[in-house]
Amino acid sequence: MKRSICTVCALIFCLLAGCGGPASASTDFFSMDTFMTITAWAENEADAQAVVTQAERRVNDLNNALSRQIEAGPLAQLNAAGGQTVTLDPDTYDALSRAVEYAALTGGAFDPTTAPLSDLWGIGTDQAAVPSQAAIDEALSHVGYENIELLGNNQARLLNGAQVDLGGIGKGYATDAVAALRADAPMLAQLGGNIGAYGQNPSSEDGLWTIGLAEPDNSANYIAMLHVCDQSVVTSGDYERYFEQDGVRYHHIFDPSTGAPAQTGLRSVTVVDELSARADAFTTALFVMGLERGLEFCAAHDVDAVFVTDDKTIYVTEGLRGQLTLSEDTSYVLAQ
Ligand code: ADP
Ligand code: MG
Repeated sequence: MKRSICTVCALIFCLLAGCGGPASASTDFFSMDTFMTITAWAENEADAQAVVTQAERRVNDLNNALSRQIEAGPLAQLNAAGGQTVTLDPDTYDALSRAVEYAALTGGAFDPTTAPLSDLWGIGTDQAAVPSQAAIDEALSHVGYENIELLGNNQARLLNGAQVDLGGIGKGYATDAVAALRADAPMLAQLGGNIGAYGQNPSSEDGLWTIGLAEPDNSANYIAMLHVCDQSVVTSGDYERYFEQDGVRYHHIFDPSTGAPAQTGLRSVTVVDELSARADAFTTALFVMGLERGLEFCAAHDVDAVFVTDDKTIYVTEGLRGQLTLSEDTSYVLAQ
């Protein structure tokens, strides 16, 4: 089993030391089960430091609001309420509402009630194994975002034994929350595989930020670069958390229609969007849909995405082609 939780760290091409702007400050920390780095620029160092300190605190607060693993937290309370109505923290309610919205939009490919599947398969734990079909069917009988009832006034309840997991949207939601703290100054937020690059990059001539796309089997390498500004770049892949059995890779993104990790021939999906929460939900959904359905979804909903397939081909949606350059020494090729 492999658990690599920081794949893009080395791949952001911002020479922070020389990043111009009047002053900058950075913070590195671990939250939401992943490594994070946030850098902010401001008129002076104290102001930049204040922004990153606030940002780190906000992410940690959101971890409490959005993680189902925190026993006293609002999501664990909702999951343990046995169908009773629970009053949630406003962030929990907001993120849950967004998750339900994206679930509906993706026809349930993104579904925040996959918790029983994550628990059953145990991906990322020492107990990871392929369960019996009967156990998968039992878990699936509780899966379905329609089981989430949003009642207004931060109140919600879960029907049919449903259990919520916001892991597929939490880092995106947190990236948006951090971006809201930056005033108008530049900020680069890297929350695991979620990156937010805001304002003009002080160290590049054109003001753009260059974000590397990790090579699936060697995430210290990059296969392509995306050039963005005021956008979030979010990647989901099958190489972060997985185990292998009988030559099959079982990873942490579940197809809610089968109850098993999605097997669609994709290695990763990246979405570029102003809203990181939306990008986060969409990467998970597109990974489940696979290339063909995923490209159709992108065309129908005006989504900018990059799909990397297991035959080392990179598919880029039309709107993003001008923003992507292939790495020179990669064996991956761009689809025509
Ligand atoms: P990562 O958390 O590695 O960035 P994702 O954003 O794709 O990757 O989220 C995967 C997480 O989302 C899983 O660990 C699980 O908690 C949850 N999840 C798995 N499958 C789905 C799905 N189909 N829809 C929504 N959430 C999912
Ligand atoms: Mg996601």
